[in-house]
Amino acid sequence: MAERRVYNGGMMSAPAGRIAVILPFIFMILFSGCVTQDNTWSMTINGDQDAIINESVYNKMINCSSTYDCIKGIPLEIFLYYYGIYPVESVSFADKTYLWEDVAYVSAKDIEMMVLPNGTVFYDGAITQTDHINVDVSDLPPVSTLSIAPSILDALGIEDTEGSIIENKTDRIVLFYIDGMGYGRYLNASSEGIINNITAMGPPIKAIDVYPSISRANSRAMVTGIAPDITKGDLKSSMPDGVTILHKVSDNGLKAVWVGGISSPVYLDDHIVYNLDSNANGSQDDEVAEEAIRQYESGADLMIVHFKNTDSVMHDYGPESAEAREALSYADALAGNIIHHLDPGTVVIIFSDHGGHYTEEGGNHGTLLPEDMIVPIFVHTI
Ligand SMILES: [Zn+2]
Repeated sequence: MAERRVYNGGMMSAPAGRIAVILPFIFMILFSGCVTQDNTWSMTINGDQDAIINESVYNKMINCSSTYDCIKGIPLEIFLYYYGIYPVESVSFADKTYLWEDVAYVSAKDIEMMVLPNGTVFYDGAITQTDHINVDVSDLPPVSTLSIAPSILDALGIEDTEGSIIENKTDRIVLFYIDGMGYGRYLNASSEGIINNITAMGPPIKAIDVYPSISRANSRAMVTGIAPDITKGDLKSSMPDGVTILHKVSDNGLKAVWVGGISSPVYLDDHIVYNLDSNANGSQDDEVAEEAIRQYESGADLMIVHFKNTDSVMHDYGPESAEAREALSYADALAGNIIHHLDPGTVVIIFSDHGGHYTEEGGNHGTLLPEDMIVPIFVHTI
């Protein structure tokens, strides 16, 4: 009797006891089944068991699939960005090393390096089986362009943030968005003395942008402080991933405006003023600069001024071409003219969405190359 009471007091009926014995076996069978499925193929990156590409990681990124000439895969860069392994200098597997500038060079007109659904690597017409990839990266700057949005809100007294890149509080902020001015391009132009209005803003912060290093992804990130969710796959969307700083600023009774050309890389509904090339000189940037002065003088508290021609010319002629240097110098002159109209206490930020690398046709960007991903951020109080 005593034994039976103890048994019943344990609150486990005989069938429940059997289930408790059987369940671990069921889990073991199920779990080992999953493991077997995941291990059908896998690749470690730099020998790190926490940075692995396998079927389950592949399926997580499935929305990022690309198809070229009937070959469907996911760009290797997607996985490298996911694991924070960038900016990429080179990638090695199966006893071969691929300089990323060569891979990126080809990708402008050809097929990028992809992981195929069966776990092989496809590049330049060849399919390679490997279980490990080594990636050589250059230094990752500690500051990200994602810190711009929270810093602006902090400086204007709208939302507090830790580690703001703007030291003081202010009533007015003007952000110059100079498209395609990578860190290397800035350094060269600076040493040539052709961007003196920009360099007068003091030494820049070396910053990393977000992937892909294109205007849409990076202008979305700049106005929200939110990195693109690469698992969603809509990397080229112009819809912001959250409430933008322009909306937050205007919700606080202040005036926020984006002044740009005929198109914008980010959707901002009524917070944007478009400008045509009304003098037909081939660029809207001069019209943008004139409109920016009008907007500032009519009381804009937060103004983003987008100069686009610096990128267009880089695509046509290459990032360090005479034409690209001239375009940068022209943007500098336009920015300088606006800066002369700013009141003391106004904070100036100079931002670029991405850099660029050479291709056969001129220049391009969008990759994990340091030339594409590292940009300067200037912060200066007038
Ligand atoms: Zn571009």
